[in-house]
Amino acid sequence: MPARHVLPDERFTRLRLGCEHVRTARRRPVINPATGAAFASVPVAGPEHLDAAVAAARAAFPAWRALSWDARQARLEDLAGSMQRARDELADLLTLEQGKPRHSAAADEVDYAIGWLREVVTRRLTDEVLEDTPRHRVEKSCVPLGVAGLIVPWNFPLCLAVWKLAPALITGNTAILKPSPHTPLTALRLAELAEGILPPGVLTVLTGDDELGRWMVEHPGIAKISFTGSVATGRKVMAGAAATLKRVTLELGGNDPAIVLPDADIDAVVPRLFWGAFGNSGQWCVGIKRLYVHDDIYPRLLAALADYARGVQMGDGMDPASQLGPLQNAGQHARVLGLLADCSARGFRFALGGGAGPGPGYFVPPAIVDNPPDDSRVVREEAFGPLLPVLRYRDFDDVVRRANDTEYGLGASVWGRDLALARALAGRLEAGTVWINEVYVHGVDFPFGGHKLSGLGVEHGAEGLAAYADVRVFMSSR
Ligand code: NAD
Repeated sequence: MPARHVLPDERFTRLRLGCEHVRTARRRPVINPATGAAFASVPVAGPEHLDAAVAAARAAFPAWRALSWDARQARLEDLAGSMQRARDELADLLTLEQGKPRHSAAADEVDYAIGWLREVVTRRLTDEVLEDTPRHRVEKSCVPLGVAGLIVPWNFPLCLAVWKLAPALITGNTAILKPSPHTPLTALRLAELAEGILPPGVLTVLTGDDELGRWMVEHPGIAKISFTGSVATGRKVMAGAAATLKRVTLELGGNDPAIVLPDADIDAVVPRLFWGAFGNSGQWCVGIKRLYVHDDIYPRLLAALADYARGVQMGDGMDPASQLGPLQNAGQHARVLGLLADCSARGFRFALGGGAGPGPGYFVPPAIVDNPPDDSRVVREEAFGPLLPVLRYRDFDDVVRRANDTEYGLGASVWGRDLALARALAGRLEAGTVWINEVYVHGVDFPFGGHKLSGLGVEHGAEGLAAYADVRVFMSSR
C-alpha cells in the first residue's frame, strides 16, 4: 500500500464532546477495503462519552432552537462552504474507507452532500392557522424535539449523514451522529469542519462499535432516532426505543424489482440498468436487485447487459481507471460470496461472473444469474452486492405479482417506451418510490421511505422535516 494511503497516527485521536476534546481508552482500526489492511484508527466511544455528548447536546439545544431559521441556515451554509473547501480531502477519505472510485463516485457523493445541505437549509416548516372565526382561533406550529440521534451505515457515509443532520439541525434540534464502525472518517472530518462554525454541542460525531448505536437508542436524553441500515438492526432500534418512547424514523433494506417492458430500447436502457444494479458495487439501498425482462427481448437484453458489464473496470478506487470498487467490508464480501456459492451449488447459469475477485481486497466482479427460480436465495434475499438475478416474464399481471412477492418495499422501477403501460404497472408496485425509465433519483422535496419491512416514516420533503418536530396546537376563545 503506498505510504500516502496511511493516515498518520495523530490523526483523529479525539472526540469533541462539547468544548472538550477527549481521548478514549480504546481505538479501532479502519480497513481500506481495496487492500484489506488497516490504514487509520479512530476512537471507540464508551457509555461515558455518550453521556457527555448528550449532556453537551442538551445544553446547546435552548440557544440553537432560539436562533431564527435564517440564523441556523447561515451557520449550516458556512458548514457547506467549509466542506466545499475540504472537498478533495473528504473524497480521498471516502474512497479509502468505503472503496468507491475517487474520481467518480466519491467526488460525486461529496458534491451531492454539499449541494443537499445547501438546499435543505433553505426549506422551512411554517405555522398554519387551522381555524379563524370571530369566536375561536386555532394555530398549528412545529417545535424541535431536542437531541436527535443519527445512525448511518457504510454504503454512502457522507450522503446519508447529511440526509439526516441537515433536517435535524435546520429544524432547531441538536444532533449526535454515529457513523458505521466501518466508515467513521468522513464523519469525523465533518465534525472537525463544524468546529468554530456550529456552537459546541450542536453536532457531535461519536465513533465506536455497534453497541454505541444501542446505547443511543436506549438513552433517555435523546428524543429521536433516525436510523438507516438493515431490517434486522431496524427491528432492534424500534424495540429499544420503546422504553423511552422515542420518535423513530427507519430507512431499511430493499429488494427492488425493475420491470423491463417488451418495447424497451435495449441499447438505451442497458447502461442505465447496469449502473442501477451495479453502481456502488451493488451496495445501494435502492439498487435494482431483481430484473424482470419480457420474454420477447430477454435473450438480447441479457446478452447486451453482460457485454456492457465486461467493459466496466473494477479496481482500487484510488486508481483513476476504476469504475467499480470493492465491497466495503469482509462480512459483506463473505455474504455475497455465499450467495454466489449457493447459485453454483443449485446449478444456476451465470451469464457473467460468478466467482471472487482478486485479493487481498474485498473484490467481487459483477455477476449476472440467468433466470433463477423465484424461490432461490438470490431472488428472495437482498444481496447488497454486485450480483443480479435476471428473470423472464410473459404476463404483466404475473410480473406485478412476482415483483410484489417480497417483504421489502423500498423502491421499484419500470422501463419501456409505452409510458401509459409503464405508469399503470408502476401504480401496482408496492414500494415507497417507483421510478419510470430512471432509478436513484432523489430530491430534497421528494419524500423518501419504505413500505412493508423497508422502513417507517420518510426522509426529505415537508414530511421529512416534520419528522424532526412535534406538533403543537394553540387554541383560543375570543
Ligand atoms: P446495519 O444495520 O448493520 O448498521 C447500520 C448502523 O446501525 C451502523 O452504524 C451500526 O453500527 C448501527 N447499529 C448496529 N447495531 C445497532 C443497534 N443494536 N442499535 C442501533 N444501531 C446499531 O446496516 P449496514 O450493514 O451498515 O448497512 C446495510 C443495510 O443498510 C442494507 O440492508 C441496506 O439496504 C440498508 N440501507 C438502507 C438505506 C435506506 O435509505 N433505506 C440506505 C442505505 C442502506
